[in-house]
Amino acid sequence: MIYSKIFRLIKKYDKIVLVRHVGPDPDALASTLGLRDSIRLTFPKKEVYAVGAFASNFKYLGHVDKFDESMYDNALMIVLDNPDIKRIDGVDYTKFEKRIKIDHHPFVEEFCDIEWIDDTASSASQMVLELIFNTRLKLNTKIAEKLFAGIVSDTDRFLYSYTTPKTLKLVSRLIEETNLDFRSVYNNLYLRPIKEIRFQGYIANNLTITPNGFAYIKLNDEILKEYNVDSSTAGNMVNNFNYINEIYAWAMFSLDKANNVIKASIRSRGPVINEIASHFNGGGHALASGARLKDFNEVDKLVLELDEACRVYTSFIKETTEE
Ligand code: AMP
Repeated sequence: MIYSKIFRLIKKYDKIVLVRHVGPDPDALASTLGLRDSIRLTFPKKEVYAVGAFASNFKYLGHVDKFDESMYDNALMIVLDNPDIKRIDGVDYTKFEKRIKIDHHPFVEEFCDIEWIDDTASSASQMVLELIFNTRLKLNTKIAEKLFAGIVSDTDRFLYSYTTPKTLKLVSRLIEETNLDFRSVYNNLYLRPIKEIRFQGYIANNLTITPNGFAYIKLNDEILKEYNVDSSTAGNMVNNFNYINEIYAWAMFSLDKANNVIKASIRSRGPVINEIASHFNGGGHALASGARLKDFNEVDKLVLELDEACRVYTSFIKETTEE
């Protein structure tokens, strides 16, 4: 079984480094920090680290360890929530002695000794929970809070279709066994300043919606400054525009000045978008993807492809409902 294979390697190594994708979201952080804390709790003598850039927005999920080169020595790397080499945050994966991948994205490339990929899982945090429940890895309330936050965040409160009976069973057992206070998790995840709501209002009023049902907005530095929000806040807004009658797929394009790229956050409630995102230095899930673009000319090209996907999708729907 995959669980015992992974557990055996965890047991064998005295030094374990957990890594995830760049630009972390709550699931990437929660799955690495949650698994780190579970391994530490089960094996207090091991050196276990969760590394990658610190994300101040999500500091309530716990602290990230600072990486140093000595962490490569005779160490096991576990990469979570990341399907490809180019998006590993902050380490050279080739320098670890052994590697495990635990991921819920569609397969992109093989680079680990053990690859546990389940693209039917709602989140990497769900897979960590499954691993804990099927091995001798331990759980406490603090770990439960992290994993719950990761699952809730990646499913948008159990709204998306990859919320399955398995997700709900695992979460039910998690709540039962740990008595976690999920209202405090919601406070951390959803409490936000009024400026973000005002910014959301700006987006709603200024979205371009094509006749094929594709909606998008280009957010330049001026507008981010006016509302005093950063590009990652702008990207996260994408999740608030689901379930709108006239819109089948939608995207936020925001300038990330520090890295001199335009970040695209794309969502869909029908047309498959990850294949299109992959043409633009991006990827992700069938209905939730991201990309990094050089300039607003590239944005226009991506808009055309996404609009075309909406056209094909809506004509397919028309055909099937008219039959
Ligand atoms: P985001 O819109 O940043 O929340 O990303 C949505 C999904 O797309 C996540 O599963 C990300 O891991 C993935 N993703 C975002 N940006 C990229 C990228 N540049 N390359 C590949 N996958 C990405």
